[in-house]
Amino acid sequence: MSRLIFLFAIAAVVYLLLKSYRRNVPEKKQDVAEDMVRCAHCGVHLPIGESVRSGDQFFCCADHLDAHQK
Ligand SMILES: [Zn+2]
Repeated sequence: MSRLIFLFAIAAVVYLLLKSYRRNVPEKKQDVAEDMVRCAHCGVHLPIGESVRSGDQFFCCADHLDAHQK
């Protein structure tokens, strides 16, 4: 019985260590991720850096910018 408690204690310690380790790792994804914009023509979401901008509207490509303006 005491062996079971010992194993449970080890499992708990490992779990807590993993939990605190994850918390200490900064979430870099959020920093790297650019603002997402939506193509006003087809509705696809893309990073603002890859979008084509026209006024306050964004498009996924120049074709959709042209198509939307017609
Ligand atoms: Zn589009």
